[in-house]
Amino acid sequence: MFKKFFDKKASIIEETNPDNISVENVRSFFNISTRLARLICKLAVRQGIFKRKFAVECKNESCGVINVYDTIEEIPEHINCLTCEIEGLNDFSFKTSELNIVEYYQYIEDGDKKSS
Ligand SMILES: [Zn+2]
Repeated sequence: MFKKFFDKKASIIEETNPDNISVENVRSFFNISTRLARLICKLAVRQGIFKRKFAVECKNESCGVINVYDTIEEIPEHINCLTCEIEGLNDFSFKTSELNIVEYYQYIEDGDKKSS
């Protein structure tokens, strides 16, 4: 039932970017509270419809995302930004605690049918 509900909405979600869905996207899309949006994301992960991701952003403003992880636990305490290192910036090695971590979700087209 939950999956059908999502399929109906999936086309619109896809227009936003299925690989980068934020809790805020879900909240505004369904016009619900942030709390409920979080719950829906959590349920969607459990159902195999969403995949949770953590993007670690570089401290240098003009840069971007250094790396993406599946779990918070996977993120190392120190991260080197390869882009900034290649560009020859002095600041390319960061403490993760100083960086912004963006939580988002990916929509999995074939969710529910778990093959592995
Ligand atoms: Zn960087």
